[in-house]
Amino acid sequence: QVKSQGRNALCFFDPQMQIAISVRAQLEGDLQAALAARQFALHYQPQFHLDGRIVGAEALIRWIHPERGLIAPSAFIGVAEESELIVPMGHWVLRTACEQLAAWENDARYRHVPLSVNVSARQFRQRDFVARVVEVLRETGARPHLLKLELTESLVLDNVDDTIAKMGLLKTKGVRFSVDDFGTGYSSLAYLTRLPLDQLKIDQSFVRNLGVRHTDDVIVQTIIGMARNLELDVIAEGVETAQQKALLADYGCQLFQGYLLGMPGPVSELEVLLQQAATQASAEGAAG
Ligand code: C2E
Ligand code: MG
Ligand code: MG
Ligand code: MG
Repeated sequence: QVKSQGRNALCFFDPQMQIAISVRAQLEGDLQAALAARQFALHYQPQFHLDGRIVGAEALIRWIHPERGLIAPSAFIGVAEESELIVPMGHWVLRTACEQLAAWENDARYRHVPLSVNVSARQFRQRDFVARVVEVLRETGARPHLLKLELTESLVLDNVDDTIAKMGLLKTKGVRFSVDDFGTGYSSLAYLTRLPLDQLKIDQSFVRNLGVRHTDDVIVQTIIGMARNLELDVIAEGVETAQQKALLADYGCQLFQGYLLGMPGPVSELEVLLQQAATQASAEGAAG
């Protein structure tokens, strides 16, 4: 073993690391093949207003593996982000979500529903990111104001000037922006005011312990206050219990996403919810 040659030897053969590297390489190859074989799908998780209306949905990528079945992004997004693969993968997500928006365009039950799309740092930092988004919007015919790009707080802060330039350009086209996982980074009010934002999305790690860990209640109240002062929407993610929802509502949050209200699922499930909403609305209209 090389290792036994002393402290100056390079440990190429650390077996643990060797296994980790080959597992990654294997996964990277599998992801590339999966992209080519169109094994990815988008699931949609509905977002609700306090009054019960569906106000949008978040597109979440799933890997429909021929043998292993449905695989969640936590198992592969990290590897995709470390390689360049996240770029074509993210582009596919964007295009698929925009195709969905366009497909809904002629149906009154669906045509008002915005979709949120997650964007990775490496994807956003591509020099042609803005051009690609504009191109996808034009080619699909999706209305830009129905597209909301979710950027994480750390992405936004990593290179503020590039972020502001790109957001500004897309903003002029009508595209909207949400800061995902908000509260986990170090956003100062000063930075936030420089960004053309529409929404803050409270990270689920704070929602989880609402009413249990006092500091999380304070953080959530602070975020909601910041959003109000900056005239931004604020949505809570990871809402799992009625108590969490009630506390959030108490603190002034009116938009919710989480298992309590709706699981991520294929587009057909979201459409069923929207059909029910439309039927209910027309029944109420007839009654009133
Ligand atoms: P995220 O953008 O913060 O998405 C929220 C995650 O929380 C989703 O996990 C969603 O299924 C999950 N979730 C929703 N409601 C609840 C709840 O009540 N309780 C709990 N515990 N979890 C809930 P998912 O789909 O596994 O995605 C995980 C992460 O993977 C996402 O976090 C996002 O960062 C990333 N991701 C997903 N799709 C894409 C994509 O298309 N592109 C990129 N770049 N990243 C993606
Ligand atoms: Mg997200
Ligand atoms: Mg999030
Ligand atoms: Mg999150």
